[in-house]
Amino acid sequence: MKEVIFVSVVLLVLFVLTAIRYRKQIMALLNVWRMLRSMRQMNPTRNSQINGGTKPAGPLVNCGKCGTWVPDIQSIKIGRASYCSAECVEKSAQAA
Ligand SMILES: [Zn+2]
Repeated sequence: MKEVIFVSVVLLVLFVLTAIRYRKQIMALLNVWRMLRSMRQMNPTRNSQINGGTKPAGPLVNCGKCGTWVPDIQSIKIGRASYCSAECVEKSAQAA
């Protein structure tokens, strides 16, 4: 029975010495593992944002004032002209 305890103690000392010798590598490995785990936790929400959050915006239209390309559904249409924002509509009205 004493032999078993002696062998366990020797193995424990060897394990501790190895851990001390390679502690930097072990810490790096733990960091990589934590990073992978956090990435895996973040991925479902990110995927749902990509798949469900952004819808195809449809055709783009050119703002009649500043020239910015905006999705057709987000643009403000006045007559034939399209504008990216109310600000551009105001500027255009002031200029005219
Ligand atoms: Zn504009």
